[in-house]
Amino acid sequence: MKTVFAVFGDPIEHSMSPKMHNAAFTYMGMDCEYHAFRVGRDSLHDALIGAKAMGFGGVNLTVPLKEEALNIVDADPLAARIGAVNTVDPGDGMRGYNTDGIGAKRALADAGVDVANARVLIVGAGGAARAISFQFANDSANITIANRTEKRACDLARDVSSVGTAHGTGLANLKDLIAQADILVNTTTLGMHPNTDQTIATSDDMHPDLTVFDIIYNPLETRLLKEAKIAGATAVNGVMMLVYQGAEAFRIWNGVEPPVDVMRDAVLEALGAQKP
Ligand code: NAP
Repeated sequence: MKTVFAVFGDPIEHSMSPKMHNAAFTYMGMDCEYHAFRVGRDSLHDALIGAKAMGFGGVNLTVPLKEEALNIVDADPLAARIGAVNTVDPGDGMRGYNTDGIGAKRALADAGVDVANARVLIVGAGGAARAISFQFANDSANITIANRTEKRACDLARDVSSVGTAHGTGLANLKDLIAQADILVNTTTLGMHPNTDQTIATSDDMHPDLTVFDIIYNPLETRLLKEAKIAGATAVNGVMMLVYQGAEAFRIWNGVEPPVDVMRDAVLEALGAQKP
C-alpha cells in the first residue's frame, strides 16, 4: 500500500510541494504519494491526528498553519525558537521542524555564498524572516533586520539575540545599511507577482561585492534581482530555498538523501506552467 504524504494550508491550490515531492518519490522508486489538502486553523489539530491515525509518512504546513502548529506538535528547539513549524513527522511522536532557514542557507551555499561572519541585512520581519534570521544567527552571521513596521524588526532582533548578533531598525536608512552589508535578503512580498515593478532597492543603492538574495520565486527574476545585476552584484532567486526546505523535509521523513536536482526541475517546470 502506498504511503501518503501531504501539505496542509489554505489557500493550497498553488503549492509546489506535491509536484516537487512526487517527482522525488518517482525518481527514487518509492511507493509514496504526496497530496495537497485545504486545512484551516480550526481543523489543524484534527487533520494532524487524522494523518497520524492513517499512517501518513509526513506533513508540510503552510499559510496560515505554521504558528498554530506549535500548540499541537512536539516542536524541535529551532522550530520552537522561530515560532513556526513547516514540517511534521506524525510517526515520530508528532515531531515538528522548521526547514525554511536551512533551505535559505543551502540556497546561498549553492551560489558560493557563506553566511558565517557575513554582514547580513534582512529586509522584512514576517515568518520567512524569522526562520532565516535564527538560522543565519546560529551560523555566526552578523544580522540587521530592517522592516516597514520597525517594532516588528526590533522584537525579532531581540528574540534572535538569544542565539547570535542581531539589530532591528526601520527602512529609513536602507541605502546606508545596504552599503555596509555583504548579503541583502529580501523577505518582503515586494516584487512578487503580480506587483513585479516593486522593489525594496535599486542598483544605485547596491555595490558589486554585494549578494542579493530575493526569496521570492514568482517571478524567477524579480525587479530587485534585475537591479542587482545592473550593479554587478551577485543575484540569487528563491527557487533553491524552496527546493532545499522541501529536500530537508524529505530527508527528515525518509532518512535518505533527497534527489535535489529532480526536485528543482519539478519546481521549475511547475513555475513555467504557472506563468501568467
Ligand atoms: P509575511 O509573514 O506576511 O511577511 C511579509 C513581510 O513583508 C513583513 O515584514 C511586511 O512588513 C513586509 N511588507 C509587506 N508589504 C510591504 C511593503 N509594501 N513595503 C515594505 N514591506 C512590506 O510573509 P512571509 O511568509 O514571511 O513571506 C514573505 C515572502 O517570502 C513571500 O513573497 C513568500 O512567497 C516568500 N517565501 C519564499 C520562500 C521560499 O522557499 N523561497 C519561503 C517562504 C516565503 P510589515 O511587518 O510592516 O507588515
